[in-house]
Amino acid sequence: MPFISGKTMLDHAFQHGYAVGAFSAHNAETIQAILWAAEAEQAPVMIQVGQRVIHYIGLEAMKVMIDTFAQGMTVPVCIHLDHSRQYVQTMQAIQVGFQSVMFDGSALDFEQNASITRKVAEAARALGIGSEGEIGKIGGTEDDITVAEEDAMITSVNDAVQFVEATDVDYLAVSIGTAHGIYKNPPKLAFDRLKEIRDAVNRPIVLHGGSDVPDEQIRRAVELGIAKINVDTELRQSFTLGMLEVLDANRDEYHLAVSLGRGREVMQQKVQEKIRLFGSAGKAEEVLRLL
Ligand SMILES: [Zn+2]
Repeated sequence: MPFISGKTMLDHAFQHGYAVGAFSAHNAETIQAILWAAEAEQAPVMIQVGQRVIHYIGLEAMKVMIDTFAQGMTVPVCIHLDHSRQYVQTMQAIQVGFQSVMFDGSALDFEQNASITRKVAEAARALGIGSEGEIGKIGGTEDDITVAEEDAMITSVNDAVQFVEATDVDYLAVSIGTAHGIYKNPPKLAFDRLKEIRDAVNRPIVLHGGSDVPDEQIRRAVELGIAKINVDTELRQSFTLGMLEVLDANRDEYHLAVSLGRGREVMQQKVQEKIRLFGSAGKAEEVLRLL
């Protein structure tokens, strides 16, 4: 079970021009779908534990489940805490052995966001794991937080540079035109800004709201320095469609292994599709050499 620091994993992706998929898990079957997809594609992978599943199942329970299912895997895996808005929770995740944590202070003012992110980045570094911070507001709804479209702003180069200087965070989530959830109209990513930010901060950039973004735009974003792409909504849709397929065919199918199992299968296919799109397929061996 080769767990690896998010920093090591993403630095490699950044230097070699591909992106690692950071896929959100919600239960046992979604953890398996992600791990099995990574194994099938021989890809390094991040499993994200987000705020909703923490409320619903628990931070430590998810960690224990992922550890259990990762036994016997040959690909490098990183367990990542997604969108934490509490310093204490980031420390809990570090304490139970996550390999990567995100503090999301994007709802705070610049100074508060930077000062807490800096503390999280320092603790993570001392323990040899990776840290993610966010500057700029990403639109849409993530867990219980909604950012209205008019409040979502493209991150400025100046903010990105000042934030990285103030925090020395390992990887940076920026707002470049994606949103959490499903798009009413296809997004148009701000590639020029992405390139400027990447050249200025020279470290892995994280794309949130990776569901439902046209493949061409994903490829371009990866070329320009996106090294971690978060995908959640599209995977939940795939899982649900798989379950519905079973239940629509037979309303009396009460064996959860049948409906959840089909959900798992359909979601695994979707994760494999994303892994190939992001360019991380077949990279497992190279990353393992860094251990
Ligand atoms: Zn996000």
